[in-house]
Amino acid sequence: MTEEHYIGVDLGGTKILAGVFDSDHNCLFTDKNKTKAELGYEGVTARIVETIRGAAHLTGIDVANSKGVGIGAPGTISADGSTVLFAPNLDWRDVPLKADLEAELGCPVWLGNDCSVAAMGIHRSEFESKPRDMVSIFLGTGIGAGIITNGAFLSGATQAAGEVGHMVLDPDGPVCGCGTKGCYEALASRTAIFNKVKAAVEAGEKTLLFDPESGKPFNKVRSGKLRRAVEAGDELATRVLDETCLYTGIAIANLCNLLNPEIVALGGGMIEQLHETMLPKITEAAVDRMMPGARQVSIVATKLGDHAGITGAAILACDHA
Ligand SMILES: [Zn+2]
Repeated sequence: MTEEHYIGVDLGGTKILAGVFDSDHNCLFTDKNKTKAELGYEGVTARIVETIRGAAHLTGIDVANSKGVGIGAPGTISADGSTVLFAPNLDWRDVPLKADLEAELGCPVWLGNDCSVAAMGIHRSEFESKPRDMVSIFLGTGIGAGIITNGAFLSGATQAAGEVGHMVLDPDGPVCGCGTKGCYEALASRTAIFNKVKAAVEAGEKTLLFDPESGKPFNKVRSGKLRRAVEAGDELATRVLDETCLYTGIAIANLCNLLNPEIVALGGGMIEQLHETMLPKITEAAVDRMMPGARQVSIVATKLGDHAGITGAAILACDHA
């Protein structure tokens, strides 16, 4: 019997990662490209196709002969899984991504929300026990989550559940991308960290995160650079990271008091780089604020790292095929 292949794609605002998987959810080969959201829907779709073909080529297979492609997209997906209704980071509204990719690739394609898909990847491939109640939180440029409660994904009345990043943790906090003040994401994401560091640098504070002599504009804080600054004892980097851990702990305590999960699995770029520093601080801040009944929870960093999204997307394809 010839091996069956499934392709998983993690479509992000800055990067597209595609992986070819066997039917046991083992990743065989990956390929990645920059998203270049500024190219618009058609341009980005062509880059998704190119990335999928790249991973298939490395594996030595033809995409059309694969059992299917799963896509985790950063936005709201229609209930029938055909359309990306709204993806703010890509500036997409109502785009028929499933039909367009199927026409181009010659195999079935299924869409899901990126955080839900990554949470499914973690739940299905990382935890043998298949916990009935689990929350995954992804800390990166933004903050997203996937919630499994009573054995099923929490989707809500209009597929809008799980927006953990928009829990308000400080009514007088900074304005969030959604327009509300003090959302968890506006206080603790990598974007929030950048805004805090930028304000401190402008106020004259010195930090390893920004070298004014370099002549380069200060326009981002990468997770790897943040880790190196924290390890070198940089005061500002340590302070902003501690704040992110505190708010993440508070968010987790709220979720645990509400949902009583068995596991909280953390992922995303910041956790991948900084989990050794962050996890103990997050856990302490969370457990301090939990009701006794919720405290048996395990708070862990996902072992899948960057592969959570593509693993979940391949499982999405496998389930449908
Ligand atoms: Zn918000």
